[in-house]
Amino acid sequence: MPAPGEAPAATGSGLEARAVSAWFGDHKVLDRVSLDMPAGLVTALIGPSGCGKSTFLRILNRMHELVASASLAGEVLLDGDDIYAPGRRLIEARRRIGMVFQKPNPFPAMSVYDNVTAGLKLTGTRVSGPARDDLVEECLTKGGLWKEVRDRLRQPGGALSGGQQQRLCIARSLAVRPSVLLMDEPCSALDPTSTRRIEETIRELAHEVTIVIVTHNMQQAHRISDQCAFFLAEQGTPGAILEHGPTEAMFTTPKDPRTADYVAGRF
Ligand code: ADP
Ligand code: MG
Repeated sequence: MPAPGEAPAATGSGLEARAVSAWFGDHKVLDRVSLDMPAGLVTALIGPSGCGKSTFLRILNRMHELVASASLAGEVLLDGDDIYAPGRRLIEARRRIGMVFQKPNPFPAMSVYDNVTAGLKLTGTRVSGPARDDLVEECLTKGGLWKEVRDRLRQPGGALSGGQQQRLCIARSLAVRPSVLLMDEPCSALDPTSTRRIEETIRELAHEVTIVIVTHNMQQAHRISDQCAFFLAEQGTPGAILEHGPTEAMFTTPKDPRTADYVAGRF
């Protein structure tokens, strides 16, 4: 597994948030969050519960707007283009920016094979027979699951273990060839061995996909990320980034005492 910091030069697109603020009704939950998430790097979002990490992640692929009371300000640039610019289609952001959630959520009754190709249908991407087989193998390989399921492709996704289901979800998100993968606490529901497998998968994927991951596991953030952003929402103020930078620096020489306390587990 390549170590953090060994990520190759940018191969895909990068994401950049500029002065992103977010509200649910009158409740402001994010205040002018700006963050560069360069291609080829793993960016970890850390910070206490309720400081807006998930909201920020959902803004990065236009899921925030699905909540009726939600609104936002600011820009999200993917490869230099604002995904919120007038005329930009939701489906385009979804195809280019994949998401993996805390709880593995494969379609349980659908076969392993069909789970991987499901995203193609959702985004209207056409791939014919043999090419589809190749794509399924490729995505399952990148998800670190191929060897375990190559003889079980017709079994239901729900028959896999929790860790396998999460890797199936990663494979499913890769089928439309996104340039960014957002992950919201992808290992929180998993045992340590499954967690380790997912971490290895993430480091491999970082070669070709920009990864932004929310994690409460500081060791995990330290192991897998190249850069970290520490979110904080103090005393009823909206969430904001208190400090961000290269992961090693955040863990060894944090600038703010609150960051030092948090990464050391004193919170
Ligand atoms: P985190 O992921 O860091 O725990 P969230 O982004 O989930 O934080 O939540 C940030 C704030 O937004 C919290 O105060 C939370 O209660 C609020 N919030 C999140 N989702 C919704 C929603 N759908 N409707 C109203 N408020 C919400
Ligand atoms: Mg969250």
